[in-house]
Amino acid sequence: MRKNSKKFETEAIRTQMERSQNLEHSSPIYMTSSFVFEDAEDMRASFAEEKDRNIYSRYSNPNSSEFIDKVCKMEGAENGFAFASGMAAVYSTLAALLNSGDHVVSSKSIFGSTHTLFTQFFPKWNITTSYFDATDLSSIEGLIKPNTKILYAESPTNPGVDVLDLEVLGQIAKKYGLIFIVDNCFATPYLQQPIKFGANLVIHSGTKLMDGQGRVLAGITVGSGELMDKVYRFSRITGPALSPFNAWVLSRSLETLAIRVDRHCENALKLATFLENHPKIDWVKYPFLKSHPQYEIAKKQMKAGGCVVAFEVKGGLDAGRKFFDSIELLSLSANLGDSRSIVTHPASTTHSKLSKEDRESVGISDGMVRVSVGLEHIDDIIADIEQALE
Ligand SMILES: *Cc1c(COP(=O)(O)O)cnc(C)c1O
Repeated sequence: MRKNSKKFETEAIRTQMERSQNLEHSSPIYMTSSFVFEDAEDMRASFAEEKDRNIYSRYSNPNSSEFIDKVCKMEGAENGFAFASGMAAVYSTLAALLNSGDHVVSSKSIFGSTHTLFTQFFPKWNITTSYFDATDLSSIEGLIKPNTKILYAESPTNPGVDVLDLEVLGQIAKKYGLIFIVDNCFATPYLQQPIKFGANLVIHSGTKLMDGQGRVLAGITVGSGELMDKVYRFSRITGPALSPFNAWVLSRSLETLAIRVDRHCENALKLATFLENHPKIDWVKYPFLKSHPQYEIAKKQMKAGGCVVAFEVKGGLDAGRKFFDSIELLSLSANLGDSRSIVTHPASTTHSKLSKEDRESVGISDGMVRVSVGLEHIDDIIADIEQALE
């Protein structure tokens, strides 16, 4: 962890690139693909990496650097790289670190595209993956082989909102010398800092709560300086860099992350508590409800429960679909972490291609609804869900 650092909210606002000669108060946007040199010697030294300066925006840009600096402070990380999307961050980070013949141990409950990367694309390069159940960490050690290099997880999971004990995962990774990578997108660094529990790298889709207003795609990886150097070398060549404009948007968004996420969590807990007592609901899952199976772990590693609530409408698939057709205010959309509340029905949409059995093994039942609770007034969010249930 950095010494003498200020509080989270202060760093989120006051971490800023150097002012230009115009002495602007808010950071400008550097929409430039390249940067100029003083003379031949300056150019030589810059390319030789004897100087730490911007050369070309595929490598670095003041707006990306500001965004990276902030997230490093928020996560307690040494260094980072900003990507054009969350998946660019996931792919580039893994591709930079894995070699042909390597093996990954991953939670079964991970973002769909990450799962597809592991199952359909990495085998092309002779990289294999074994999966453990997010609610049974005791099976992990049995999956580790001599060629296992990475332990990969997300918590809370999507869409089942299970919570994985990051401290336990960190200890296993340390014991076997694995690189422990956490996709921290659901929690944001405001609620949870995986590096404290032993993560070596933390990945975010900036598209979700970090932007929080459904405007830009972005991704970022932060963590150990040594590992980030490998990720940087790979990424500056392969070109997944974040655009300066999107980096600028994200850096402004982070100024309000704490205050937004506080309200998301407050609204989500109120909705979850309301649903817990509703006769048309079979079950509700939210990390900060006492009834959540991993409530104690959630309390240990998270500041609050996040923006996602999952619940089961009584009556299975048909009741689930009917509920969706009756929603008026909330959006039917695949995104999450937006100021606008969003409802999705995983069984008939994002996870419809899986068999019922496979869906159930990652905690998705037929009548399950996922709500990404937004920043509208909670009374209006509850009223819409209540009338849809009726
Ligand atoms: C959305 C998401 C991603 C991918 O991010 P994009 O910005 O859409 O590429 C990765 N991980 C998790 C947990 C996500 O929710």
